[in-house]
Amino acid sequence: MSFLTLQGISKRYGDFTAIEHIDLSVERGEFMSLLGPSGCGKTTTLQMIAGFISPTSGRITLDGRDITDARPEKRGIGVVFQSYALFPHMTVAGNVGFGLEMRKMKRDERRRRIGEALELVHLSGLDERYPKELSGGQRQRVAIARAIAMQPELLLLDEPMSNLDAKLREEMHIELRAIQKRLGITTILVTHDQVEAMTMSDRIAVMHRGKVAQLSTPFDAYERPATPFTSTFLGRTNTLEGEVLRRNPRCAEVAVAGTTLHVPHEGRDVDGAVNVYIRPEKVRLANGDARLQGRIATRVFVGNQWLLVVDTALGRMHVAQPNFGAPPPEEGREVGLAWTDDDLRVLNQEGRHGHA
Ligand code: ATP
Repeated sequence: MSFLTLQGISKRYGDFTAIEHIDLSVERGEFMSLLGPSGCGKTTTLQMIAGFISPTSGRITLDGRDITDARPEKRGIGVVFQSYALFPHMTVAGNVGFGLEMRKMKRDERRRRIGEALELVHLSGLDERYPKELSGGQRQRVAIARAIAMQPELLLLDEPMSNLDAKLREEMHIELRAIQKRLGITTILVTHDQVEAMTMSDRIAVMHRGKVAQLSTPFDAYERPATPFTSTFLGRTNTLEGEVLRRNPRCAEVAVAGTTLHVPHEGRDVDGAVNVYIRPEKVRLANGDARLQGRIATRVFVGNQWLLVVDTALGRMHVAQPNFGAPPPEEGREVGLAWTDDDLRVLNQEGRHGHA
């Protein structure tokens, strides 16, 4: 049995269904992210696991125990919420060590744990400060250190790095992931930051309107989106509307604006009105082997790559070209575009064949 299971979990507020029959299993030591747009039910799900909200129906088990009705403090779960409630009258060290002291841990061991946790979050040396003497981002890191110091079996994080600047956040992603692995703490992270979810997770549960739209590794979530929603939610993609003409064992022939595309269907039951997707980084500027002509509408440099919008007979195409050194042609210029058919993806349009 998995370490944590949610079985048929629903949450209704009056007539409104915030969570609709979720089944989810998290393995021991796994790092799972709940990723989705605002209002999709991420926090509600986490709060039900923590025990701050009761599900309307369904069961939750932790390490084989049914905890559906257990009080939060009886669950042995560490929680870091966005609003990091620190004790204002206690120093940083006092806050981080509070739970350890309650557990009657010896002073030396406590000190060691506090030091380690503060080092992890880059706050060594601020032990004697009070919360009011810290920035928002520093307070957030104290809250993370406090949870890590307890070394809980299950750690729940709700947007715990939202107040950190981009660079520090990037560092914390890598370090937090490393310590999570080292200590084997099963972790569930709520975030709407795709990069955060992709960098840290073993698996991502992409949530949409109170359901899990896709549960997979970060690579599969990006490379093999299972629904139109996940296709467009994760990263940027070009969406071409088309109609399936024929289907052979490997490919679907799809008519898109007078052109026929051969798209691998990977065994999916695609027919009728479909969307064909291709990522901007899979489209390249080409001369001899161009599949499509177009005119560059906008050209933006973002350092590691150039982002182009190209007007074509198939509609506006986004193209991301790595920064090889030489800039791509300027706005207004005609260019050819090419791609490999294996990089195309096809899904039935939303609402058909029971897609989420
Ligand atoms: P965000 O990223 O904005 O925090 P979220 O995915 O965490 O969003 P939740 O906070 O889980 O979303 O809320 C899910 C849905 O449930 C929302 O539509 C929200 O308005 C609704 N909701 C949450 N709490 C209540 C409540 N106490 N009463 C009624 N509706 C609620």
